[in-house]
Amino acid sequence: MDLFHKKYKCEEDGEKFDTYEELIEHAKKIHHRMILKCERCGKQFIHEKDRLHHVREEHEKEMDARVHKNEHQHKKEGNHKGTGTPQEEVDAHTRNFGDNF
Ligand SMILES: [Zn+2]
Ligand SMILES: [Zn+2]
Repeated sequence: MDLFHKKYKCEEDGEKFDTYEELIEHAKKIHHRMILKCERCGKQFIHEKDRLHHVREEHEKEMDARVHKNEHQHKKEGNHKGTGTPQEEVDAHTRNFGDNF
């Protein structure tokens, strides 16, 4: 029952392969197909939609975390520039404490 073992089928000539990597090698050598590479982990794909699907499934969470981190850092920098140095802020707080006592 080879059909159950060989999951990956070449679209051009119907040849079957055990792994996606073998199919890619075949597509590259026999059909001279352009192989797409994931920029983040180097995994190879035959179709752009497959690569996009992989990026969405495997790397979207990482990318989201990175974007949020950067946004946070920018906000912090902006606040310091807008309200003066941290030392000035501390002075303002101590002055207020003095008024209360
Ligand atoms: Zn083929
Ligand atoms: Zn990847």
